[in-house]
Amino acid sequence: MTERIGLIGLGIMGKPMGKNLLKAGFPLTVWNRTTSRVDGFQELGAKVAGSPREVAENSDIVITIVSDSPDVQEVVLGENGAIHGLKAGSVLVDMSTISPQVTRELAATLRDKGVDMLDAPVSGGEKGAIEGTLSIMVGGDAAVLERVRPAFDAMGKRIVHIGANGMGQVCKLANQIAVVLNNLSMAEALVFAAKSGADVNKVLEAIQAGAAGSWALNNYAPKILRRDFSPGFLVSLQQKDLKLVMEAAQDMKLPLPGTALTYELQKSLQAQGLDREGNFAVVKIIEQLGAVEVNGDKK
Ligand code: NAP
Repeated sequence: MTERIGLIGLGIMGKPMGKNLLKAGFPLTVWNRTTSRVDGFQELGAKVAGSPREVAENSDIVITIVSDSPDVQEVVLGENGAIHGLKAGSVLVDMSTISPQVTRELAATLRDKGVDMLDAPVSGGEKGAIEGTLSIMVGGDAAVLERVRPAFDAMGKRIVHIGANGMGQVCKLANQIAVVLNNLSMAEALVFAAKSGADVNKVLEAIQAGAAGSWALNNYAPKILRRDFSPGFLVSLQQKDLKLVMEAAQDMKLPLPGTALTYELQKSLQAQGLDREGNFAVVKIIEQLGAVEVNGDKK
């Protein structure tokens, strides 16, 4: 039997994920807080619900992909939240990036109602969501993952079971730590080369292929050299994720000096109103500190 899927949140990520679920043939019911964002879904064959509760009443598996922990709590536990429509034996899958601790609490609340939960945050950005090639990091029971896997297959390429509830979010936050420190190391290397008077195009060409080579150097450094700071991944969302990292690390009394430094440096981007640029704009802060610009046109 094909499972009926519900989808709550049709933002940058949710919209293409929903379209891929429809393309794969799943009966789909959608809801979004801002109603204009559901435009076009009915024509594609989806049902449009009036609340998260109504989504849940029409679904066997409900997916949430909203912004932050309080937003997931609101669409699941709020007055018209999904919990009021979920039947025992159904599954709630949260694909947002939120706090591991809030995830565990949510899973426990749902378990009391006989509802299973998976945390399944994603990596791969809007491009991965459109192309159905997301990396999906899953926390929760392995058997529940197997039940949901056909839906994950419609949205993602690599689906990894990390562990119990919360561990999907732990994995996603570990991913974010590595991302921001890669960006910072790229920024310092490029600024050092520029301040030394080197041709940054040639420096990039040389170091991309060696031990310093990275996804950031391949994808972001060429944009920096062109002074193109369009996102990718927004500074504002990156900061939301680093705040989650810092809170989780604080709970464990775990020092993360590099991540803390990057969080503070990126705060300067926010102070300058650059929230909606790509996360690699952290190079601008290092440039300001060193009074130099990394520019591929300046030779
Ligand atoms: P987005 O475009 O800003 O969309 C956010 C969605 O959440 C919108 O549908 C918004 O509804 C809804 N929402 C937020 N707060 C809500 C609330 N309190 N009640 C009801 N709905 C609420 O964000 P996105 O880029 O799709 O990101 C969604 C999640 O995926 C985030 O956790 C993000 O960190 C994660 N993520 C994003 C990317 C990326 O590259 N964009 C990559 C990996 C993971 P409205 O339309 O009414 O505002």
